[in-house]
Amino acid sequence: MRQTVIAGNWKMNGTLSGLEEYLGTVIAGLPASLSKKIWLALPYTFIFNAAKKTVGTPLQIGAQNVSAEDSGAFTGEISCSMLKEVGAVFTLVGHSERRHIFHESDEMIRKKTKKAVDSGLQTVLCIGETLDERESGMAETVLERQLKTALKGLSPDNTEKLLIAYEPVWAIGTSLAATPEQASSMHGHSRKILEGIFDKKTAARIPIIYGGSVKPDNIAALSQKEEIDGALIGGACLDPLSFLQIIRQS
Ligand code: PEP
Repeated sequence: MRQTVIAGNWKMNGTLSGLEEYLGTVIAGLPASLSKKIWLALPYTFIFNAAKKTVGTPLQIGAQNVSAEDSGAFTGEISCSMLKEVGAVFTLVGHSERRHIFHESDEMIRKKTKKAVDSGLQTVLCIGETLDERESGMAETVLERQLKTALKGLSPDNTEKLLIAYEPVWAIGTSLAATPEQASSMHGHSRKILEGIFDKKTAARIPIIYGGSVKPDNIAALSQKEEIDGALIGGACLDPLSFLQIIRQS
C-alpha cells in the first residue's frame, strides 16, 4: 500500500508575518483522523518557524530545492544538513521552474536527488514534459530520460525516501490540469520506467503524485485513479482554506 501525500508548494510567495496564521488555520482544519501525509514546501527563511509551529501536528515542513553539495564555497546554496537542522523533513528536487528558469540539468538533478536521499530527507523528484514535447509525441521519452538520469546510481535500498511528482510543465500555473486519464497514464508509464531502473517490487512502493493546476474542484477525480498517490499543489495552497478543501477531497 503506497502512502498518499498531499504537498503544498508556496514557491516564492508569502510572508513570515502571515505564516503563523496560515499554519494555524490549516492545522485547525485538518480532519481528526488522517492517513495521508500533509506536507508544505516553504521558502527557506520560513522553514525554522514553521517546523517549530507544526511539531506534534500532521503537517510537516520541507524545502523547494537543495544543494548537491555538503558544505563549502557555494554562495547562495543550502545543504541537506542545514535543512534538517531547521526541521525540514522533505525537499523537492528538479521542479520544472528549477529546470526551465534556472537551467538545472538532468545531471545536476541527479546529484541533488542522490544527496537528498542519502541525507535521509524525503525526496520528491519532479519530472514532466513541456507542451512542445507532448505535442511532438516525446512526452514518454522525456520522462524516461529524466527518471533514468536522476536515479542513476541509486539502489532499491535508497528508494525508501523517494517520491516522484509528475508535473507536466504545460499544466503548472495555467489552470489547464491534466485530465485524470492523462495523468494516470503518465504515472503508469513512469512506474514501468521505475521497474526497469529498480525492480517490480521497488517500483510498486514508490509514490507518484500529480502536480499541475490541482484545485479543490479537480482533486477528487484525480485522486480516484489508482496510479495517482497524491498531489503537489502550487497556487491553490496559498489560500489555507483551499489547501484544506484539497486535503479533504483527496
Ligand atoms: C507546482 O508548483 O508544483 C504546481 C503544480 O503549481 P500549480 O498548482 O500552481 O500549477
